[in-house]
Amino acid sequence: MDLSKHAFFEGKTVPLSEARINIATHGFLYGTAVFGGVRGYWNEEKKRLFVFRPYDHFRRLLNSGRMMAMSIPYDEESLIQLTVDLLRTDNWRQDIYMRPTIYKADMGIGVRLHELKDEFCMFVMAYEPYVRNDTNAHVTVSSWRRIDDNVIPARGKVAGAYANSALIKTDANRAGFDEALVLDQHGHISEGSAMNVFMVRDGVLVTPPVTDNILEGITRRSIIELAKKEIGLDVVERSIDRTEVFIADEMFMTGTAAQVVAVTKVDHRPVGNGSMGPVTTKLRMMFDDVVRAKNTKYSSWNVEV
Ligand code: PMP
Repeated sequence: MDLSKHAFFEGKTVPLSEARINIATHGFLYGTAVFGGVRGYWNEEKKRLFVFRPYDHFRRLLNSGRMMAMSIPYDEESLIQLTVDLLRTDNWRQDIYMRPTIYKADMGIGVRLHELKDEFCMFVMAYEPYVRNDTNAHVTVSSWRRIDDNVIPARGKVAGAYANSALIKTDANRAGFDEALVLDQHGHISEGSAMNVFMVRDGVLVTPPVTDNILEGITRRSIIELAKKEIGLDVVERSIDRTEVFIADEMFMTGTAAQVVAVTKVDHRPVGNGSMGPVTTKLRMMFDDVVRAKNTKYSSWNVEV
C-alpha cells in the first residue's frame, strides 16, 4: 500500500512514521473510533486534484462522533482546510483515498464513552480498487446479519462495527464471490460490506431507506440525485426483500472506495440478462465525470486542492 509521507496527528502535520498511538489507547482496545473514507480524483486535463464532497464526508464523521459521545475542536470547514493542506504537503498527483478518524485517546482500560479525551487524525494513501470486478460482480447473500441501530448504529461509521463488515467480506471472498448482500434483523437487504445497494425494477430505481440499518452513503446520495436529474428516473427508498434481487432488471452497489459496481449475478442467478444494464452503465459514466470535476453542473461537489 502506497501511504502518505505525512499525516495529521494530535493537532499538527507530522511525518507518518511519527503518527503513532500507544497499545493502551482506548480506541484501539475497544474499537471506540469513528472514521470516514474520502476520495480525491486526479483530473489529467486540468492537472489538478479534486476532493469529492468533503463537506458531506466531514459532516457525517462529526455526526458519527456525536453518536459516540465524541467532540473535537474542528468543524466541517476547518477539516476541509486541513485536508487541502495535508494533500498539498505531499503534492499528490493521482487518485487518492483519505482516512480521517476520531478516536478515544485516553490510555488504559474501562469500557465507556464518557469522560475520555477525543483526538482527530488523518492519513492518505494511493487509491486501490475495493471491488476489482466492478462491471460484472457476482455477490452472495451473507449468512451474517447487518448490525442493528440498537446494537451499534449502522448510520455511524464506528470502527469496532467493521468487524461485522470484515466477517461479511472475508466469507464472501473465500466462497468465491466478489461481495455480499447483507440482511438486517428483519430479513431485508440493508447493504454490502462497505457499499449501498440499488436495484432497477420495472424502470424504477429502488434502494433501502436510511432506517434499514444502512450507512447513509455519500455516493448513494449523489447517485440518487444524478438518476433523478440526469436520467429522469423515479427513485424509491423502500425495504428490499431478499428474493426481489433475483427478479430485478439491474443491480449495482455504491461506495466511495468502490464507486458504482455492477452486480450481474446473485448466488449463481443472473440479474436481468446477466450483463451490466443501461441504467448502471449511464450512472457509472456520469459519476466518473462528476467526481473528476468534468461536469461543471456539479462542481459544488468538487473541492480543488
Ligand atoms: N456502507 C458501508 C457499511 C460503508 O462502509 C460504506 C463506505 N463508506 C458505504 C456504505 C458507502 O458510503 P459512501 O458512499 O459514503 O462511501
